[in-house]
Amino acid sequence: MNTTSSTTGAQATGPLLVISAHAGDFVWRAGGAIALTAAAGQRAKVVCLSYGERGESARAWREGKNLEEIKAVRRAEAEQAAAALGAEIEFLDAGDYPLLETQELTDRLVHVYREFEPAVVLTHTLADPYNGDHPAAARMAIQARILAQAIGYEAPGEPLGAPPVFHFEPHQPEQCDFRPDTLLDITSVFDRKRKAMECLPAQQHMWDYYTDLAKRRGVQLKRNAGPNLGLPHTCMAEAFVRLYPQTTGVLA
Ligand SMILES: [Zn+2]
Repeated sequence: MNTTSSTTGAQATGPLLVISAHAGDFVWRAGGAIALTAAAGQRAKVVCLSYGERGESARAWREGKNLEEIKAVRRAEAEQAAAALGAEIEFLDAGDYPLLETQELTDRLVHVYREFEPAVVLTHTLADPYNGDHPAAARMAIQARILAQAIGYEAPGEPLGAPPVFHFEPHQPEQCDFRPDTLLDITSVFDRKRKAMECLPAQQHMWDYYTDLAKRRGVQLKRNAGPNLGLPHTCMAEAFVRLYPQTTGVLA
């Protein structure tokens, strides 16, 4: 067994589903995980519940654009970012600020789970005192996964298995009770993540923030991977929190 393989970013376990409240969230928080999956030849799909048109498009509002124009801009940017990462993207246009939890929207996510059959799911944290839409998206993502597993739930396709769910890193991790238990090596695809970030020009201040964060998480990854694994001098990483226990036949 190649002991470095789990930390070099060369592998992905299968279809990756990312459930994002707003059009930009998946880029900052999970762009590396998405690009790694695509680079490994696996499907990655982003579902944007809204465009972030009201709450995360301040510059466009100040420029005097109207709601429909802003939605179109955010959609185009997110499509470009997804393409840069190698992901498919679907917009549910459910509205933001507030993003309302509804049975209809949850049911649409159940259909996505049944059709896409993800091996891994990424979504927001369940706590975010800065943004009610993020926990709402996470709750619906988790509830839809539960429903998609139920054989009696009416939706096309087979009942879902048990894809692990990871929360991706929020913008204010400490306030969101975000204590990483998983560090993903994204060194090999960081240039793609940076390119995707640069598809979002209205949030240019975030480009360097998330580049610096990836470096910091990369330092932590190296510390936890041990000194002898031959990791690159500058390692880039994304942090996640696993929702359900890892299942394993061996402690490693
Ligand atoms: Zn957001």
